[in-house]
Amino acid sequence: MTTIQLKPRKEESILRFHPWVFSGAIARVTLDADHPEPAPVEGELVRVMSSEHKVLGVGHWQVGSIAVRLLAFGVGELPELFWQERIAAAYRMRQRLGLLREDNTIYRLIHGEGDSLPGLVVDIYGATAVVQAHSVGMHVYRRQIAQAVVDTVSEVTAVYYKSDDTLPFKAPVEGDRTGWLIQQSAVSNQQSEEYWATENGLEVRIDWLRGQKTGFFIDQRENRALVERYARGKDVLNMFCYTGGFSLYALRGEARTVDSVDVSQKAIDLVNTNVARNFPGCTNHRAVAADAFDYLSAQCAEGRRYDLIILDPPAFAKHRDAVKNALRGYQRINAKAIEMIRPGGILFTFSCSQAVDKEAFRLAVFSAAAQTGRKVRILHQLHQPQDHPINIYHPEGEYLKGLVLYVE
Ligand code: SAH
Repeated sequence: MTTIQLKPRKEESILRFHPWVFSGAIARVTLDADHPEPAPVEGELVRVMSSEHKVLGVGHWQVGSIAVRLLAFGVGELPELFWQERIAAAYRMRQRLGLLREDNTIYRLIHGEGDSLPGLVVDIYGATAVVQAHSVGMHVYRRQIAQAVVDTVSEVTAVYYKSDDTLPFKAPVEGDRTGWLIQQSAVSNQQSEEYWATENGLEVRIDWLRGQKTGFFIDQRENRALVERYARGKDVLNMFCYTGGFSLYALRGEARTVDSVDVSQKAIDLVNTNVARNFPGCTNHRAVAADAFDYLSAQCAEGRRYDLIILDPPAFAKHRDAVKNALRGYQRINAKAIEMIRPGGILFTFSCSQAVDKEAFRLAVFSAAAQTGRKVRILHQLHQPQDHPINIYHPEGEYLKGLVLYVE
């Protein structure tokens, strides 16, 4: 195995279980005598040692500023049942948290670093698991991972692999980036169009083939439940609705009216399908395909007002360099939304940009509030749910943040 030796004192963060080795921390790379290439290959397993030759762990080699993502600490090789044990541990945790219920068949089983498996995401939709590799190392192990998921989670009979958008763009990988890994049941590609799973008693159509991410935004489950608690009798706007998760909870919470808006017509079709399935004959829901800024500006000018608005935009900043523009974007859209809220109304506002931290996001929303001159108070500070855990030694894992505001 290739050995990576660190510079003096660069082992400190690893001894505290931080799972990344930055390229600048590396003193020496020693290849095996029979290594096929003159340098480590992206995705290969490497052993990490301190400057004093102490074994620190094993991980996946990557090209870029994060050179190694560690899988196991304090050992020089992966234990024999590594994948089975890690996946079983994650499953046990979800069981203990009470997430696996007849009325809740959707949950995230593996959340990368938060489940000590950097670069891997596994989402469960009833009998189907969707696996997503964010690193070549995880791609290499995709079959072992799929088998371990099926062996561990008795309900799962099929595993779909969807890493087209998440594997490093230029990385040379062997095999398909997308397609079935295990297909033991009757679930097939055609059925992806007819596939339903349940979140907190609400049925949602999951289309892992054509949908965004693995087909559904599981990370808003708890925040949707909070919307349900506030929805009664209110006129609700769900902006950036995608499959309409928030809209379903608002309708179940007896909102007076719910408007769902997304720029994608496919998303709007999905919202309508989901609403019709859960609330047959529903007459107080309207879905509109429109750009957020256009919709808000036009409706605002016409004097349209809401009692509760949800703003859940896509990541405005995908990289650190884009943070400044992203913050301006958050400020602009939040100001528009605050303007459209009736006195005594509520705004649920989110950012899923990992590069924008809690404080920066709060400051952007503060600026938006100040711009409108309204009195605004914070009722709740929201974040990602329990099946998207954050390794306390890896605070970079925190990405979803939200504020619930009371607007006078
Ligand atoms: N709230 C959703 C997830 C939102 S994801 C949920 O709970 O599932 C972000 C959504 O914003 C995507 O569906 C995307 O199509 C939409 N979107 C992106 N740019 C937009 C724009 N300019 N105007 C309106 N919607 C947009």
